[in-house]
Amino acid sequence: MWESNIETADPPLGKCPACDVTIPAANLVIAYDMVGDWPRMLATCPDCEDAVNPV
Ligand SMILES: [Zn+2]
Repeated sequence: MWESNIETADPPLGKCPACDVTIPAANLVIAYDMVGDWPRMLATCPDCEDAVNPV
């Protein structure tokens, strides 16, 4: 079932490949066109504050 107390519309982008921290959708910097089966994204990690590709 869905968690009814979650108000954020956007799901997390993924996790930082360096420190395994969940990156919220608000940290999205840029989203590229689809490459193969996966969307390519660049987002700022809230922990290491680096621009990473969420995994
Ligand atoms: Zn990180």
